[in-house]
Amino acid sequence: MKYGSIKNYINGKLKEAHSERTLKITSPLDGTLLAEIPCSTAADLDEAVEAARTAFPAWSKTPVKERVQVFFRYKYLLEQHLQELAALVSEENGKTMGEAVAEVEKCIELTEFATSLPQLITGEVLEVSKGVECRTSHAPLGVVASIVPFNFPAMVPNWTIPNAIALGNCMIMKPSEKVPLSLTLIAKWLKEAGLPDGVFNIVNGDSEIVNAICDHPGIEAVSFVGSTKVAKIVYRRATQNLKRCLALGGAKNHLLVLPDAKPDMTAQNIAASMSGCAGQRCMAASAMVGVGSVDHIIDKICEEARKIVPGENLGAVINRESKERIERYITEAEQQGARILVDGRGATVNGKENGTYVGPTVIDHVTPDMAVAREEIFGPVISILRTDTLDQALDIENASPYGNAASVFTQNGGMARYVMEKASAGMIGVNVGVPVPREPFSFGGWNESKFGVGDITGKSSIEFWTKLKKSTTKWNPEEGVNWMS
Ligand code: NAD
Repeated sequence: MKYGSIKNYINGKLKEAHSERTLKITSPLDGTLLAEIPCSTAADLDEAVEAARTAFPAWSKTPVKERVQVFFRYKYLLEQHLQELAALVSEENGKTMGEAVAEVEKCIELTEFATSLPQLITGEVLEVSKGVECRTSHAPLGVVASIVPFNFPAMVPNWTIPNAIALGNCMIMKPSEKVPLSLTLIAKWLKEAGLPDGVFNIVNGDSEIVNAICDHPGIEAVSFVGSTKVAKIVYRRATQNLKRCLALGGAKNHLLVLPDAKPDMTAQNIAASMSGCAGQRCMAASAMVGVGSVDHIIDKICEEARKIVPGENLGAVINRESKERIERYITEAEQQGARILVDGRGATVNGKENGTYVGPTVIDHVTPDMAVAREEIFGPVISILRTDTLDQALDIENASPYGNAASVFTQNGGMARYVMEKASAGMIGVNVGVPVPREPFSFGGWNESKFGVGDITGKSSIEFWTKLKKSTTKWNPEEGVNWMS
């Protein structure tokens, strides 16, 4: 095993878990056995919460301008070690080195945002009547938890770490049991950046530890990112236990293509969106709805897709189970009458026969009732549906239970504006394949792509990670003067 047994990280130290159960981590790139992680228990969580509770009084009382100094230094460490972290992200997740570098660059941008928090959390103050002032201030919540998925081993944890901690909270991180390695480096650099012991802790494991987090009376808030199925479980369980919860779920993103769209740009954007990170992005293009005559654009999408080669500019999917699930979706669509224009089934990479690759796949003449039209495939697959009108295309988009992102490709500003208003998704793109808002804008979907109020990044995350204190003070200035004399 290249990295041996992974330990938990509690109170600034690596710590053996109490659990007897372990899970093996293999690299999707070539099947190499990388590490083993413990399935921690409630007893491990107790230790982490105790460490975080002990650290909270001093950390929360540290002025925010001092707290963010840690994140200036952490940002510098991320920049300095960008290639090292990217290599580990690629190795444990299977994405290409280029995609892993982009992921770490995003971690840097997220941290940069956190360093600006002192500028963003100044409260309001107003003299509401003679000598009476009302003011607001943001107070941290206490011990908070962050539960993360496998598809961005470094970026999604950094959606929560810099903001929640810079705002004065202490954190329990639950990594994905499929990709726990990147977080060991992140913990090391947070400590090196000067974060006091106990402010950030890692408890490894699977659903057992997630349930324990939702139940733990010492945890005030839970943020979750993962599939909709588990987001619902976590949201229900955490709020049942009277915790604040923000749970981001899965996605089925629709790209509406109008006949006037610029063919080359549209095809390049769609091919990149559906295949980037092997389609394992909650922002991936998953269903394209062609309005009217768009065959010339579909031909170009196929041309672009054929340029994407597993093992070269396309990474692996997370594991064999995932590869088989994606290939099953394609076969089922074919059996139901859809046409496979580009077929990524059975992909292998020479010398990496134990890697789990799926080639780019373009499926045409998909109908709304097919599973490939409705469900999240989480692979490099685009399902193409056809309609005669833009309203029919919007009906398909609106009928999806998800609502993470939607995009439209057109040169007509009025049509673009119409889609921006009518699409039922939290993040909208116009001529953009992956409409991820950049900092300081917030990231977050609608409908079954997100449960809870607010968004997970950007300005909107401040509301989630803090509680607002409203103070009213009364000082009669004249009495004050008398007393002084
Ligand atoms: P997942 O839901 O399987 O796992 C996410 C986390 O939940 C992991 O830490 C895992 O240990 C835990 N978990 C798994 N099953 C559980 C259960 N039954 N009970 C309690 N906890 C459980 O998700 P994944 O496969 O790791 O990640 C892929 C999913 O995440 C996709 O659906 C993707 O769209 C979604 N995702 C969404 C966003 C977003 O912003 N909306 C971002 C990234 C990923």
